[in-house]
Amino acid sequence: MQTQEDKLKKVISHAKEYGFVFPSSEIYDGLSAAYDYGQLGSELKNNIKQYWWSAMTRMHQNIVGIDASIFMHPTTWKASGHVDAFNDPLIDNKDSKKRYRADVLLEDYIKKQEEKIKKEIDKAKGKFGDSFEEEKFRATNPNVLRSQEKINAVEDRMKAALEASDLVALKALIEELEIADPETGSRNWTDVRQFNLMFKTELGAVSGDAGIIYLRPETAQGIFVNFLNVQKSGRMKLPFGIAQIGKAFRNEIIARQFIFRMREFEQMEMQFFVKPGTEMEWYAYWKEARMKWHQALGIGEDHYKFHDHLKLAHYANGACDIEFNFPMGFKELEGIHSRTDFDLKSHEEFSGKKLRYFDPETNESFIPYVVETSVGLDRMFLAVLSSALEEEKLEDGSERTVLRSHPALAPVKVAVLPLVKKDGLPEKAKEIVDLLKHDFNLQFDDKDAIGRRYRRQDAIGTPYCITIDNETLLDNMVTIRERDSMQQERVAIQDLHGIIEKKVSLRHLLQAN
Ligand code: ATP
Repeated sequence: MQTQEDKLKKVISHAKEYGFVFPSSEIYDGLSAAYDYGQLGSELKNNIKQYWWSAMTRMHQNIVGIDASIFMHPTTWKASGHVDAFNDPLIDNKDSKKRYRADVLLEDYIKKQEEKIKKEIDKAKGKFGDSFEEEKFRATNPNVLRSQEKINAVEDRMKAALEASDLVALKALIEELEIADPETGSRNWTDVRQFNLMFKTELGAVSGDAGIIYLRPETAQGIFVNFLNVQKSGRMKLPFGIAQIGKAFRNEIIARQFIFRMREFEQMEMQFFVKPGTEMEWYAYWKEARMKWHQALGIGEDHYKFHDHLKLAHYANGACDIEFNFPMGFKELEGIHSRTDFDLKSHEEFSGKKLRYFDPETNESFIPYVVETSVGLDRMFLAVLSSALEEEKLEDGSERTVLRSHPALAPVKVAVLPLVKKDGLPEKAKEIVDLLKHDFNLQFDDKDAIGRRYRRQDAIGTPYCITIDNETLLDNMVTIRERDSMQQERVAIQDLHGIIEKKVSLRHLLQAN
């Protein structure tokens, strides 16, 4: 059986072999947790961005997009709380010298208990068949109850320790649960320490503390500080949203698992400003809307689940993650948070400038509440790539590697393939390229046997291959081959645009939202 590790390894090597993702500065042996997107990777990434941007801004008349700078006035990060509190509790294993996040070790322990419960349930389901009642089983089975009690106790103690920043209690919990280094099994731990995740650099020629600025650890603050600029210049009325896609930087303690956790990554964030008191309605709205956005990609509902936050930040009154079944198991893909008026209020205090909305209907000024949706672009990329990659056994016994990503996200939409390199076929093929290139990203390929060219396109997820043969010169018909079914059809050149458009247009994805 394929282990999780094998699965991730396959994705990584496929990504490299076909030009999706390369290790950063590889000729110098790479830089840990930094990656470069290659020729196909950047296309896929752009398509994901476009899907998100369109779903946010075009599908909502009251959401607009901005592009704020990465460097911001350093007081921004005082106001946001990042200077004082953007810390992860880290712990080192003295034997293996490996560093871990203490909260992640505890969460993994909880996940193991949850898996135990799931195993019991699956076993009972198999035994009792249709008459099985899961709820009743959960409430009565002693093994399940024991595991659930353990989970509840650990969750409560972890929450209390994190909220109080009680690092001694966190370590005590890790020791008491006999949590071992996942890689070596050693239980020889250091104390837990706090570690600030922001990267610092110096501004211009100013050195010393006065010149220190940060690489933004999230894009959201660029939105908050522009709240009034956008509201006034765009004459926006509550409720309204501001969306942004951009780079963020975090000096992650453990940056492993390929592009899942990097030190430089991209976020797609939207802050939705609402009247105080209506935020829970909007929180529920955005939870549903964001799940729909993900599921429209057709990856399968069982790949997603909500995870409500244990530890609510002191200013939040609702927070959850949408988790995705990555090759490493279920992990956070997107966060949805109800942040109250914390950020705007704090920027008011630190800047001395009013950040209020004037409601013309009630003649009142107030600080709006905010519901935020925040999804990692790189994690989306990994979700799409890993779920699409398939090794398929064909009827004739052969195998093909196919990337079944949604056609609207596919980096290349069409491959134009003259059957042979002579008899005027390449010239005819180039005419087809000219006919389609303005609307679709396409590849022209006249090397190798046609079967090999098909396989190559399957491996990069191209929805359509068009083959030009001698007959084409006589009747202006070509063979069009569809990626998933591998069905081939003879169609007129003039119909190609319509056929391809129907399949690859972003419109269908947006309509499914
Ligand atoms: P995690 O718990 O995995 O560290 P987080 O809760 O700190 O994530 P948020 O601050 O909510 O993450 O950031 C919003 C989104 O940004 C996340 O859902 C994730 O998709 C993405 N993200 C956060 N950190 C990273 C990273 N180091 N590399 C890639 N994507 C990231």
